[in-house]
Amino acid sequence: MRPDHSLDDIMRQRFPRRELTPAARGVIEALLGGGHALLVSPDWRERELPWRLAAEAGLRPLLVVADSERDLQSRAEALAGELDLVACALHARLEDEHLRGLAEQLAGGKWDAAFVSGRSLADPRLMAAARALAPRLLVIEDAHRASMHGHRYDLAWLHAAGLVPEAGSVLALADVANLTAREDLIARLGLDGCHVALGQLDRPGLRIEARRVGSQPEADRNLLGLLADSPERAVIHASERVEAERLAALVRDERGFDALDMTNLNAREFGAALRRFREGGLRAITTTGALEPGPGWPPIPVSAIVGMPASLELLHRQMHVASGEGAIAVLVHERDETPRLERAAMRSAFDAGHLLGLYEALISGEELRFNALSARTGLRPEEVNLGVEALIHAGAVTVLARGDAWLRAEPHGSLSTETLERWGREADAIRRVRLQQVAQVEDFVASRRCLRAILSEALGYPLAEGRCECGRCRPREAVLVPRRVPGGYPIEAGQFRGWALGLYRRPGEETPGGVPGKLIEQLKYLDSEPAGRRLAGLMARRVMESRTYRDCEVLVPVPPSDPEATDSAALFLARAIGSQAELPVAEALISAQDRVPQKELTFVSAKRDNIAQAFAVASPDEVAGLRVLLVDDIFDSGATMQEAGKMLLHAGAADVRLLAAVRTSFGWRRDV
Ligand SMILES: [Zn+2]
Repeated sequence: MRPDHSLDDIMRQRFPRRELTPAARGVIEALLGGGHALLVSPDWRERELPWRLAAEAGLRPLLVVADSERDLQSRAEALAGELDLVACALHARLEDEHLRGLAEQLAGGKWDAAFVSGRSLADPRLMAAARALAPRLLVIEDAHRASMHGHRYDLAWLHAAGLVPEAGSVLALADVANLTAREDLIARLGLDGCHVALGQLDRPGLRIEARRVGSQPEADRNLLGLLADSPERAVIHASERVEAERLAALVRDERGFDALDMTNLNAREFGAALRRFREGGLRAITTTGALEPGPGWPPIPVSAIVGMPASLELLHRQMHVASGEGAIAVLVHERDETPRLERAAMRSAFDAGHLLGLYEALISGEELRFNALSARTGLRPEEVNLGVEALIHAGAVTVLARGDAWLRAEPHGSLSTETLERWGREADAIRRVRLQQVAQVEDFVASRRCLRAILSEALGYPLAEGRCECGRCRPREAVLVPRRVPGGYPIEAGQFRGWALGLYRRPGEETPGGVPGKLIEQLKYLDSEPAGRRLAGLMARRVMESRTYRDCEVLVPVPPSDPEATDSAALFLARAIGSQAELPVAEALISAQDRVPQKELTFVSAKRDNIAQAFAVASPDEVAGLRVLLVDDIFDSGATMQEAGKMLLHAGAADVRLLAAVRTSFGWRRDV
């Protein structure tokens, strides 16, 4: 078809302040010519412009398969407001009747555009509505998920392939994806012969460095060194949630600027944090995975990646968060991270037993939320998603309704051995691909060649002209902080904050933690004094080195749960720390009533009830007007220290800081 007006006319009228990149222009021309297009790694300016422009030029009705159901409604409203296109959101929560009515209207040409989430296309009601629209332009966001060779393979995206044959033109938008992944997703979505355009993948001005270090403290020294010249903003990518939290606290404590862990924020908190980040109040954010800076984001001079990411695609996305003049992206990784990544790769897919377990959970006919399913089966969200989709694709269940993270289904026949074997093989193939991706990251960091050239070769994009800024082509001394960096994990109990030296692990847990966990076991359960003194030595050093404890004047141990007991690990530690850090110890707190040791209780609410009113201050004179350092051996829910801290403040203490030997990390499966 021919557009009513030339593209440039529409650009001038509709998007006067925007510029059409060559990649975006090629895509629009392919679509208007009746063909399909794949746009790889568009930046935020290229993400919506091509299809909005194509729709404006006459390609409608339009169906957008979105990455999630979260913003469907607001995106539909924005389209109506900005382009006069009447758009609706197809949501799995809509009543059957409402959906049927909507499908009739869509078939009758009453809507110009519709939005639906990729996952909810498994819902036959939404699929029928999407088909009824008979889109002339189908947009598939996050299309890289359709490829098994991509870094975020999600079988759900294959449902979108069912819409391709009837759509006039298709635009697939993908993250950076190498040639294999691109060909795979083109084949799986049925887009053979489509026009392929690469977004702004290569930025010669971005400085890229990879630093291999020997230990976690050394990695921390590198990170703090990177922040030593006080960049206006920084994004720090961590490999696990517990690390993201630790690094945010470390930066706050050691660099003295506000840093926030973004991994657990809801949408509203995220928006507020982003506003502070833009305005300069928040200087550093830590996160896992990849953020996608959009139009609301300020320039970010530093992107730090601490710990090797699982794929070059993820590394590329994390590096490219850095923006603006003189931006720098640095990967800091320890020598022996491959085993960790390989273990994660092996856990990336379900096995036959898991599939059976998911099947049994699903056929109850009730609505199942995936996080509950994840908690019940011990599978990670990624595994749950793949497993559930595998059951849908195998026809083992009939989907009644399907949102992004929940499902209502009925059994359909039984799960045959052949099906289990087939998906077992598929899962093996997924694991092999993940292992290959780990090997590529290994090659990247081990190579002595130009980092930019390796990335460009591995991900298949051309190098732009301009002198390379990478750390190999233009080496620069790494700035390290001159002092030791104190180790530990942040703890928080109500209004009180502090540090635990390490993590306390259950057998078989894989979270990092180190020596303190072992020492505390020896002290508590084997009564080993040497272990206790060593542990106290580490804690004393933390007290002397950390800004958090700089002004503390007196140590107060958390008293034992049994009021009759005269000895406890906390008291032992407080005394030993006091003598090494030259601080007085005041046994100001006593247990007011007998209570169950906190670690024997499972629920947070039970821990809180158990501890309420559990303490009294025996000698207020010893703490009045002083900054108190409250010491305990194991920090679990925080209820004990919170209650103790409150009592101390009541008794007149000026301030209370927390110090524990270890922090529990139970529930770690949600922690990666
Ligand atoms: Zn280079």
